[in-house]
Amino acid sequence: MLAGMMMNRPLLISNLIDFAGEVYGTIPMVSQTVEGGIHRYTYSESRKRIAKLANALIAMGIKPGDRVATLAWNGYRHFELYYAISGIGAVCHTINPRLSPEQFIYIVNHAEDTALFFDTTFLPLVDKLKAHWKPIKHYVAMTDKAHMPDVPGLLCYETLIEPASDQIVWPEFAETAAAALCYTSGTTGDPKGALYSHRSTVLHALYSVSSINMAFGAGRSILPVVPLFHVNAWGLPYSSAITGTSLIFPGPRLDGPSLFELMELEHASGSWGVPTVWMGLLAEMKKRGRKPVGLKHVLIGGSAAPKPMIETFEKEYGVTVIQGWGMTEMSPLGTVGHLLPAEEDLDFNDRVELKAKQGRRVYGVELKLVDEEGNKLPHDDIASGELFVRGNAIVSGYFKNEGATSRALDKDGWFGTGDVARVAPNGMLTIVDRTKDLVKSGGEWISSIDVENAAMAHPGLANCAVIGIPHPKWTERPVLVAVKAPGANPTKEEIDKLLDSKLAKWQLPDDVIFVESLPIGPTGKVSKRDLRTKFTDYKLPDLK
Ligand code: AMP
Repeated sequence: MLAGMMMNRPLLISNLIDFAGEVYGTIPMVSQTVEGGIHRYTYSESRKRIAKLANALIAMGIKPGDRVATLAWNGYRHFELYYAISGIGAVCHTINPRLSPEQFIYIVNHAEDTALFFDTTFLPLVDKLKAHWKPIKHYVAMTDKAHMPDVPGLLCYETLIEPASDQIVWPEFAETAAAALCYTSGTTGDPKGALYSHRSTVLHALYSVSSINMAFGAGRSILPVVPLFHVNAWGLPYSSAITGTSLIFPGPRLDGPSLFELMELEHASGSWGVPTVWMGLLAEMKKRGRKPVGLKHVLIGGSAAPKPMIETFEKEYGVTVIQGWGMTEMSPLGTVGHLLPAEEDLDFNDRVELKAKQGRRVYGVELKLVDEEGNKLPHDDIASGELFVRGNAIVSGYFKNEGATSRALDKDGWFGTGDVARVAPNGMLTIVDRTKDLVKSGGEWISSIDVENAAMAHPGLANCAVIGIPHPKWTERPVLVAVKAPGANPTKEEIDKLLDSKLAKWQLPDDVIFVESLPIGPTGKVSKRDLRTKFTDYKLPDLK
């Protein structure tokens, strides 16, 4: 093979912020702060503070490869930590504050974090768990002197960076070096660490901006509701820097009215998050009878976007919905549901049908479906099987976890997602279900997502989830657990009638149970595991 004669510069995260600071220096970044009030600055000011922070980290003794943890909302200091930590060759370990104390203790010790930067909101949590976190040497409160809690030994972010130089020449190292660490929410067993490299992060940012191009660009802004502590806010800190997109960080205020207010104030052109977040925002939009001024798109990912949600955003408010599918292990983007020109011309209902699917793979991600014996299945939109993925922004294993690594990859090095899916000849992916959430009934599989989608067409439902309940004859039968919309009073009979018109007989839930709320897991999605636990003693109607 004849070698190409091109330069080979390492793809490093520090280059992204240097680029944004120079080329998009005047583009604003906005944060709703933990202390109260709004903070504004530009990419160029951010770049200077990132250099100060990087110099301060080096002065603290943080070395390349060290894991530095963050426990924080979406805000400008968290953004600065992302770049400063990775920039000096250390690893930014974002921790999800919604984890259980046991998981929290496990991952800090497993990651061997040497320092923890946290928003003052989380001081009680830090106080409670500190004694169990052996490796942490430095605790830093992400605030200024005026808001410092009175805790002996606690360092102050602003005091730390204040004397440091705002000039830095970033170290150069191999692009394969680790840059960031994020643990899965661990629905079974201990959480597992996805260890992103500089190369995977930069490539993922390029993949994102090439496949969701309508969202990015100087003059556009995105409000990430998806947290910086969950898969790098779907890569937004990096993809925004490459494109000069303004970020609007919501801080701790994630309820519908607060999000509406901030979007409107800052004229957010887009916003990204999981479906549960949009329920709050849509309720506020309904109350006001309009969308926040300037809002053009929402990206819905993390779990299936219900069809009625897509319809409401698009038909009633003129907000374009893009569905995204991916996972922590994929950095996270796998597929994106933008439509091709001919599909945009379809009538509204057909467009919604397509948008309710998970979309087409982004460049850089390959998809493979296999049956239970590991045989490859056709991409004909009929065969469904476990979805495997391959690409440069997908994990090649889990951090310090050989057992989980060997279970995750097949013999050809593809990563098993644990999702059951179909792929159409035109590349459109449909996630049928999580393997664990499928309901096995009499030798057939029932997709909980399909039943939920059908039920959500009832205007009297605010949310719902389907779980499988053990049955001696059928193995399992589906049960629909539903939350009523405010002021509505749907009956079981109405829901049954609606589902009867949309599903096959054997797919119909055996029962409809109304509850006040559904359990929400650490990443903001409905937790079916917790729901199943809640219904352990529940008896199906025909077994009572
Ligand atoms: P996480 O790693 O916590 O982000 O979760 C990843 C899992 O969320 C995937 O394996 C899917 O089961 C689910 N998921 C993510 N996006 C979607 C989507 N658009 N539709 C259906 N399920 C999704």
